[in-house]
Amino acid sequence: MSLPQHREAEYHRNPYRREMEIWVDTLGEHPRFGQYLLFSDSIYHPHGGGQKGDRGLLHLGGEVAEALGCPSDLPLTDTRRESRDNLHVLGSALDNERAHQHLVGSRLFRLTLDWEFRYRQMRLHSAAHLLHCFVERVLGNSIPFPETSDLQPEYGLNRYETKGLLMEEQVREAEQQLNLFTAEGHAISTSPDPEKEGFRYWHCEDWIIPCGGTHLRNTNEIGEVRVSLGLKRGRTSLTFTLTD
Ligand SMILES: [Zn+2]
Repeated sequence: MSLPQHREAEYHRNPYRREMEIWVDTLGEHPRFGQYLLFSDSIYHPHGGGQKGDRGLLHLGGEVAEALGCPSDLPLTDTRRESRDNLHVLGSALDNERAHQHLVGSRLFRLTLDWEFRYRQMRLHSAAHLLHCFVERVLGNSIPFPETSDLQPEYGLNRYETKGLLMEEQVREAEQQLNLFTAEGHAISTSPDPEKEGFRYWHCEDWIIPCGGTHLRNTNEIGEVRVSLGLKRGRTSLTFTLTD
C-alpha cells in the first residue's frame, strides 16, 4: 500500500473497522517475509511499535480462486512495514503470472480482519501506555519510556533498562490505581503530528505519548489488568495480562 502523503491509512482513521473493499496493487516477494500483496488501503496495522502485525482473510470468490488454484478465502498471516509500504504477507504462495492476471488491479476484493486478535492487541496496547503513566505516578516523578514495549498475543511487556526501578509494593500500587482508573471509563484518542508526517500521538486525560499504534476509544474496554514484576540483569520488567 502506498497512500498519498496527506492521507492516513484506514487502520488509523477507523481502528474499529473489521472489513473493507480494497484493490490489489502489487504481488511481491520479500527475502524474509515471502510473498506479499500491497493494497490500495488497509484495515491491517503493520508489525511495529510493539504491536504485532494484523492478519485475516482476503475474500476472492470462487471464480478467482479457481483461476488462481487457491482457497477462496485467502489467509493473510502478517503485516509488515517496509519503507512506505504495508506488506500483507500471504499464508500460501500464489502463481505469479496467474495472480497478475486475475488479482492485481482487476477488481475490488473484500478484506476482513482477525478482530479477536487485533482487539486484544488494542486492549493490551492501551494497558501498556497507562501502566507506564501509573508507574510514574507511584514513583512521583517522570521516567523515560520503556526501552522495550512488546505485545504478544496474550500478554504485554514494558521493560526498563534500570535496575531496581520499582519494588513489589509499588507495582501493586500502580496495578491498583491503573485498574481503578480504567474502570472509570476515560476517553482515549489519537491524532497525527501536524509537523512530522507519519508520526502520531496517543491521548488520555492529561497524558500524551508518541505512538502510531491502534487504540481503544475508552479505558473501560481494557478490563482488569494483572501486572508482575521481574528484576533481572539490571533491568526492571513489567509483564501484564488481561483477566478476560
Ligand atoms: Zn500506542
